[in-house]
Amino acid sequence: MLWNKVLRASARCGVRLQSSGAAAASVKTSTDHSAANGFSFEFTDQQREFQQLARKFAREEIVPQAADYDKSGEYPMPIIKKAWELGLMNSHIADDYGGMGLSIFDNCLITEELAYGCTGVQTAIEANSLGQMPVIIAGNEEQKKKYLGRMTEEPLMCAYCVTEPGAGSDVAGVKTRAVKKGDEYVVNGQKMWITNGGKANWYFLLARTDPDPKCPTNKAFTGFILDADTPGVQPGRKEMNMGQRCSDTRGITFEDVRIPKENVLIGEGAGFKIAMGAFDKTRPPVAAGATGLAQRALDEATAYALERKTFGRAIAEHQAVAFILAEMAMKVELARMAYQRSAWEVDRGRRNTYYASIAKAFAGDIANQVASDAVQIFGGNGFNSDYPVEKLMRDAKIYQIYEGTAQIQRMIISREHLAKAKK
Ligand SMILES: Cc1cc2nc3c(=O)[nH]c(=O)nc-3n(C[C@H](O)[C@H](O)[C@H](O)COP(=O)(O)OP(=O)(O)OC[C@H]3O[C@@H](n4cnc5c(N)ncnc54)[C@H](O)[C@@H]3O)c2cc1C
Repeated sequence: MLWNKVLRASARCGVRLQSSGAAAASVKTSTDHSAANGFSFEFTDQQREFQQLARKFAREEIVPQAADYDKSGEYPMPIIKKAWELGLMNSHIADDYGGMGLSIFDNCLITEELAYGCTGVQTAIEANSLGQMPVIIAGNEEQKKKYLGRMTEEPLMCAYCVTEPGAGSDVAGVKTRAVKKGDEYVVNGQKMWITNGGKANWYFLLARTDPDPKCPTNKAFTGFILDADTPGVQPGRKEMNMGQRCSDTRGITFEDVRIPKENVLIGEGAGFKIAMGAFDKTRPPVAAGATGLAQRALDEATAYALERKTFGRAIAEHQAVAFILAEMAMKVELARMAYQRSAWEVDRGRRNTYYASIAKAFAGDIANQVASDAVQIFGGNGFNSDYPVEKLMRDAKIYQIYEGTAQIQRMIISREHLAKAKK
């Protein structure tokens, strides 16, 4: 709790980004020195503090337990509680609702460090940001007070409920229906692959409110906040995934679930835009998570290459191995620059869709390449679960799938690129 207070005090001393409401462009951020002085890679003291705290936490609290959580698949609630106490989660919630109002950039610095420790733990934490983001960008005062305030009062989880068994990349294919009856909406349908699905206190839920198949996508769906203990909400079994195994992923069934109309975000028909709009702010941290994993793979491979000897010398001294390390380092550095650029853009109130997709696609790809290279450098040991890099390779794969697959990111990037070219 003490660290949390220190961090909060530190955040208050610095000038902070607001997370909603007034135009972001007019708000000073903790990275403003770079805007004033032109291009800069220098962090503020406050950012260094966040980064150091998250790094220490990851090294001391996450790394030693990551392999056990991976094996058991148990939800890492004790770690999450400690992260919550230190202010390492929900920190993007505005201080009006008990958060620290950190910028996306600052959050990304924390996310990269947590991911270095274990991306299963980091994804459980990051899913909170994803669930909260629609409320942050589209919630009214009452909704924010009630649902964001809750998250800063106690260590609770929330979730973003959009994907369905038949609709992932093609969000417009969502079939869950919400029908207005008096002052309520009655929801029926099924969601799939929901991170924190069985642990959430509340969900952001996307459902179709206009049954007319000709209704345009940006009017057919509505975004709701749904309390998880509402009758008719039935989370399924925990899915056993290839990687990030301690993260809780589930299908959820909704049977005659009643949601009060006060829990509609903005208004009927605004849901698709809200659900997609959240990604501009959540893809930079996902890219930061992938970068953290890649950095970990590079560090593990480097340490191993300096120790392991073949033909009378450390394998790092064989040029073929040293060059693999060089390629890995190049990729990690560029992924970091990509997520930082995309976060910086959105913190300035600019549309960052192009940069967010570049960061997410690039960091997701290089996490896979770098983790695979780390396994290669470990040789036979790399293939074995007594060593850390096998887990990294399994954990990395999801970064090319969730929050928009590698292919969907390329669709977005090409669309944005061509639109600029045609202007
Ligand atoms: C562990 C995990 C956690 C997740 N967490 C959440 C969560 O918290 N909330 C949530 O709502 N969802 C979540 N998801 C869902 C995730 O976002 C989707 O799985 C993802 O968007 C892909 O959708 P899909 O699985 O239906 O694949 P599909 O959309 O069926 O795609 C299958 C393949 O086809 C490709 N493809 C599809 N359309 C095109 C196209 N037009 N052009 C080129 N290629 C295309 C895809 O890239 C992919 O390779 C999670 C998934 C997993 C596995």
